[in-house]
Amino acid sequence: MLKEEVSRELRDIVGGQDYLDSPEDLVNYSYDAYLPEARPDAVLLPRSTEQVASIMRIAHRESIAVTPRGAGTNIVGGTVPMRGGIVLCFTRMNRILEIHPEDRYAVVQPGVVNAQLQSAVARFGLFYPPDPASLNVSTIGGNVAENAGGPRAVKYGVTRDYLLGLSVVLADGRIIQTGGRTTKNVTGYDLTALFCGSEGTLGLITEIVVRLICKPEAQRSIQAIFSDLDGAGQAVSKIMAAGIVPVALELMDSTVIRLIEESQKVGLPVEAEGLLLIQVDGSEENVMGEAQKVAAFCQENGAREVRVSKDPKDEELLWFARRSAFGVMARARPNCIVEDVTVPVSKLPAMVRSIVALAKARGVTVGVLAHAGDGNMHPLILFDRRDPQEWKKVESFTRDLFEKAVEFGGTLSGEHGIGMAKHEFLPMVMNQETRELIRQLKACLDPKGILNPGKFV
Ligand SMILES: Cc1cc2nc3c(=O)[nH]c(=O)nc-3n(C[C@H](O)[C@H](O)[C@H](O)COP(=O)(O)OP(=O)(O)OC[C@H]3O[C@@H](n4cnc5c(N)ncnc54)[C@H](O)[C@@H]3O)c2cc1C
Repeated sequence: MLKEEVSRELRDIVGGQDYLDSPEDLVNYSYDAYLPEARPDAVLLPRSTEQVASIMRIAHRESIAVTPRGAGTNIVGGTVPMRGGIVLCFTRMNRILEIHPEDRYAVVQPGVVNAQLQSAVARFGLFYPPDPASLNVSTIGGNVAENAGGPRAVKYGVTRDYLLGLSVVLADGRIIQTGGRTTKNVTGYDLTALFCGSEGTLGLITEIVVRLICKPEAQRSIQAIFSDLDGAGQAVSKIMAAGIVPVALELMDSTVIRLIEESQKVGLPVEAEGLLLIQVDGSEENVMGEAQKVAAFCQENGAREVRVSKDPKDEELLWFARRSAFGVMARARPNCIVEDVTVPVSKLPAMVRSIVALAKARGVTVGVLAHAGDGNMHPLILFDRRDPQEWKKVESFTRDLFEKAVEFGGTLSGEHGIGMAKHEFLPMVMNQETRELIRQLKACLDPKGILNPGKFV
């Protein structure tokens, strides 16, 4: 519970309509897209950097826990206010402040939704590539804090690659600026990179300068159906080795294909073992040639059916199934955990086989979705949390999964972060000294440990 006079001070900063503490509101901000829940004492929806700084000065003085929140779509428990206190939600700081086509950058507030930024810059013929599957709801602030990626990461990289600078409010209310507005900038330590992926534990991001690139002239997608998952894996290796850099190279296994088809009726063959969805882009004259080369690699490696998109509408249709995958899987059982591990690309086919075998051994239902072009995969675990036996199996499966990924030279997360979900597994990939340095950095920026406590660090 916040002290009466403290809650009055906080209410005065944001105004009554942006201070929530009714039981209904507190429930709404007590969970995200992972499993656990915890109630905050109050939810504040600031509208400016100055308001955020004033809130933090009070939180610091009173040692109140502060959990930053964008759209709450993270899948690692990153926005669950485990120690109560304040949820600081950025959805009302949702303005695109500047777009500079000539210098190719934009300045945005953290609550801007990713898809809104993408369409705003597209009007100037510009392109903001990071495209998490949650792009229609997730915020740029959340994307920066998680260093979010998406299918296009194979060619265009992740959120970090499009950051020029940030405004950040530190735990004690000081406001700092990192980076700047130029493409080249090596003045001092790369603090922008430090805050990117810090999951709300080091500072509150209140303004973001993003780098933009020119929108490619044309794109084509290729859908290839395989009776055998190994063939799909070989096709991926061949495409990557041929020097083609696809925008996206996505893989789905039989469980995902079957569940999508049962729910969406998009004409996917339910008996197929694997599906590749590959996108290429570039100039109008080159793009069709590349699409045909990709189609040929798929056929040579056992694809029984290959389709190349003819126009933008066709393109949308091919991607519809992939985009609906998470939602479809989540509806299939009472609970769904979207896991996120990455291995070197060459180990991807072996890792997919291992996941299928581990799931069978543990008796757990798992579908595999993978950003195959960058070795990042999302096993989707379907279960009923109310059944303790089933939950035990899920826990053993996830531990096996992480051990296997690390054994293949991989890591615990490719794009979703650590949050509460993977905290205990960090020693698998970081030695004692590295974890100690992270704790020291955290202590330097947040000595009272009030920023998103219990997550990651
Ligand atoms: C259906 C679905 C599909 C998804 N697909 C992808 C995908 O393809 N790729 C991918 O990378 N992720 C994906 N995600 C995960 C999630 O959408 C991303 O992590 C996204 O970046 C979170 O944005 P958000 O606005 O929801 O942030 P939130 O979930 O609200 O917050 C995420 C983290 O950032 C912190 N935070 C939020 N705003 C700020 C701020 N302004 N300053 C400091 N810290 C802040 C929070 O404390 C939390 O730790 C998916 C999630 C779902 C549900």
